[in-house]
Order: sequence, then structure tokens, then C-alpha cells
Amino acid sequence: MANQDFLNEINKRRTFAIISHPDAGKTTITEKVLLFGKALQKAGTVKGRGSNQHAKSDWMEMEKERGISVTTSVMQFPYNGALVNLLDTPGHEDFSEDTYRTLTAVDSCLMVIDAAKGVEDRTRKLMEVTRLRDTPIVTFMNKLDRDIRDPMELLDEVETELNMACSPISWPIGCGKGFKGVFHIHRNEAILYQSGKGHTIQDGQTIKGLDNPELDSAVGEELAEQLREELELVIGASHEFDRELFLSGELTPVFFGTALGNFGVDHMLDGLTEWAPAPMPRETSERDVIATEDNFSGFVFKIQANMDPKHRDRIAFMRIVSGKYSQGMKMNHVRTGKTMSISDAVTFMAGDRERAADAYAGDIIGLHNHGKIQIGDTFTQGESLKFSGIPNFAPELFRRIRLKDPLKQKQLLKGLVQLSEEGAVQVFRPLMNNDLIVGAVGVLQFDVVVARLKAEYKVEAIYEAINVATARWVDSTDVKKFEEFKRKAESNLALDGGDNLTYIAPTMVNLNLAKERYPDVAFRQTREH
Ligand code: GDP
Repeated sequence: MANQDFLNEINKRRTFAIISHPDAGKTTITEKVLLFGKALQKAGTVKGRGSNQHAKSDWMEMEKERGISVTTSVMQFPYNGALVNLLDTPGHEDFSEDTYRTLTAVDSCLMVIDAAKGVEDRTRKLMEVTRLRDTPIVTFMNKLDRDIRDPMELLDEVETELNMACSPISWPIGCGKGFKGVFHIHRNEAILYQSGKGHTIQDGQTIKGLDNPELDSAVGEELAEQLREELELVIGASHEFDRELFLSGELTPVFFGTALGNFGVDHMLDGLTEWAPAPMPRETSERDVIATEDNFSGFVFKIQANMDPKHRDRIAFMRIVSGKYSQGMKMNHVRTGKTMSISDAVTFMAGDRERAADAYAGDIIGLHNHGKIQIGDTFTQGESLKFSGIPNFAPELFRRIRLKDPLKQKQLLKGLVQLSEEGAVQVFRPLMNNDLIVGAVGVLQFDVVVARLKAEYKVEAIYEAINVATARWVDSTDVKKFEEFKRKAESNLALDGGDNLTYIAPTMVNLNLAKERYPDVAFRQTREH
């Protein structure tokens, strides 16, 4: 029987990540969230950086100098009785495959939208990924201190473009220079905004009740009237919050505020910690695993090379699915059948790596990895399980990779296969020729691969352009038709790093034609590890 402390530890955990389009304010909101989590004394110190252009070139420098891959770090902090795990995702879209997989390791997501712009490309793409698991989404409409689009229109856009009902929890009172605060619909009170206090936790002045005349004097009669009219409309036209629909990913609670002004972020965090799910069950090949099971289990969703430049180590990031990790415990590495004694896993408190004392379902721990651990690997306390739902994503960019010194072909292949097992890149070997095609979701992955091939495998490789638009993993339940397809489409077929058959399409038109021509073949955009 699990004891009450153990259950409390697990039930208070909230593990989430932020999805947004670049520049919508993910970094800024992370800073403020950490400020509320008391993880930072003063906001603005997560990472010093100027424009995005700078950030990009800094990363490039690091990639080149150290062959390090851009981090997905994990930050843990207490808030309102909950223990929050915020999984940061690479800010740069060129590392999107890491981002995609990080989204498979969380129980909920915060979607940050620039309210002046609305739903943007990358948000759309990341939402598609969260759909694979129907992850619950909390929405924050950011930058209310600027002139924004009509809030009703913003909700409408989320509903139609992302196919998710919106339930506004707060509603803005003005915007831009005239931004006065929000009306918190659930609390039935206005919370007033003070500008210039973005670095502190504010004691926002509140006014109870929509009809309170104090509201008129605080924000001006005109805005107060407008708010009343809008709210009447909004409450009539939008959805009431429904936790079941939220948990199934069909409805999102929406908050308004400004991350820069540190306003509204706490309302969002209150909602997230109250409504977002505690660690969820996960599917395996055998059965569903429940977070509060006594026995430990977890899966690896990311491997990161050389986090600490002084040590050339790799860290395997594991999401704990059930039970508890304690230092020195023995784990069964299911794929290899080996027992590993884990004495030095790392946990992530507020961005610093610390030695883990204990960690529970919902938490992320880092295992030192000397090449034995792969993305998708399951660890248990003995049971033979395999967690599903940690996919490879079809790459969107392709290059042919070639050696400067042709004698080292074997090392090149070994390096590429290992890097693909790690998830750093994907490799495809066409059936009809000796090309090696490297596929990535983001362009910076290519640079990392060449740097790591040189540093870790002592091979110098260069890229050449290749005419490939996309790749799809193929399979079929009809053996005969599949054989015919393999014969006829052989010039488009390749094996990936794990020897899975892949269709390599020179153009999207070609892919669509192939799909029409071979209706019995499944062309898959993701592949399970
Ligand atoms: P990210 O690319 O999503 O991480 O976005 P950042 O957090 O780096 O923000 C991009 C830019 O928008 C930065 O210049 C921020 O200072 C600015 N920004 C973020 N939040 C707000 C906000 O609420 N209001 C205003 N005016 N600017 C903001």
C-alpha cells in the first residue's frame, strides 16, 4: 500500500512546457514564472540576451566551439502547494525535434500568444504535436501593454485554427497605453495593472464586482462601460470552463496579461496549478502505467551531449512515469536487459543541476550516459515494459553527407547511426545507391552533427545539397501489395538509422502521387522509437 506522503508528493506535481512562436514572450514569461516560484530573486536573469539574432549567433558559437547541443533544461519550483516542473524547450526553431519530443514528456502545456499577432505558424505546428496525446492547454494572451487585436477575434482564431474551445478566465480592460488591468471572471474582481513593475511581484489592487462604481473611478467610465458590454457578450458567446474538456484537450482556459509587465502571469499560474493534471498514466506495450504505482518506471525523451563543457558527458533526460527514484537504486534498462545501479542522477532545481535526493513520478531526472541509452528507452524496477508515444518526427530538411577522407566511411556510418539513435539527427541510406542522407527538423542540427562527428568520431564530413522534400515511414498490412510497392518505388526507398523502410520524396507532389497510387501503404509522419 502506498503511503499518504508518497501519494501527496506525486499528486502535487505539475509538469508542463511552453509552446509559442518565436518572440511571443516565452523567455520573458519563464522568467516571471520562476520569480513567482521564488526560484529567482529578481526577474530578468534567466539568460542575458539581446535580440534574437544575437541569441542565434551565440548558440552557433557554442555549437562550434564545444559541439554541445542546445539545452532543454528543466526547472522545478513550488507554487501554491504544487510542485511545478517547467520543461524549457530550445528557443530556436531549428531544434524543433527536441521540442517535439519534450512535449511528449509533459502533462500539460502553456500556449503563449502575442496578442498583437494571434495564432502564428510555429504555434500551429507545436499544437499539432500536442494533439498526438491530447495534452491539456492553458493559453496566455501576451503583450497587453501594446495595442492588440480585438480579444474576441483572438479567441475566435484559436477556436477555428487550433480547433479548441476557448474559455476566457480573465478579460482585458483596455490595452496599449490605456491598459488598465483585467477582470478576473471566476473571481468576479478587477485587478489593476501598474506599469513599470515588471521585476517584482505586485500587490495588484482589486475591485470586487463588475458593477462596483469604484471600477468606474479606477479605469474611467468609458472603459468600465465598455468592459461591462464586452463581458456580457463574451460570457454569452464563449464557453464556460469545464475541467473534463480541458483535460481532454478540447477546451483551453484563456488568460490575458503582459509578461514584460509581470501582470496576469500569476493568474495563469494559479489556474495551471489548480487545473492541470497531476502526473498522468502512460501507455506501454503491455498495459497502462499509473503514476502512483509503487514501482519506479520512466522513459528517456532526450539525450544531450556535453552539457557541462568541462566534462564530455551526455545526459539522458528521463521522465519518471511511476513511483520514486532514490539515489543508488537499481533500474532495469529494458531494451538491453541490463541492471543499472543509478547513484548519480541529476535533478533540476531552478536551472541549476543538483544531485538528486529523491524524485517522483512527474519529475525529470538526468542519467549520465556513455552511449548505452537511447531516446525512447524504458527503465523499470524489473518489469518488462516499453513506453509508447515517443516518436521520431519526419525531417523537413535534407542534405547528402560526404567524407573529406573516403577511407573513413565505416566511422562515418557508425557516428551517424549513433547520433540518430540519440535523436541528434536522422540518417537515411537509399536502397539503390551509396548516398548517405541526413535529415533534420531544423537547420542547426546539421552543424551540430558535423561538429560532433569531428569531435567524437574523428571524421571530417561535408554536406551537399540534395533534392529531397520530405520523408515518410512506410508500412502496410497487405504483404503482397507492399512487395509490389517496394519493387516499383525502389528508387525512392531508403533505410533509416534503425533500418526502418522510408519513402524519400523529391517533392510534395511526388509524395501525394505515391499516396494515391499505393492506397494500401501507410505513409507515416512519425515513427515510434
Ligand atoms: P521568445 O522568443 O518567445 O522567448 O520571446 P521573448 O520572451 O524573448 O520576448 C520577445 C520580445 O518581446 C522581447 O523583446 C521581450 O522584451 C518582448 N516582450 C515579451 N513580453 C512582452 C510584453 O508583455 N510586452 C511587451 N511590450 N513586450 C514583451
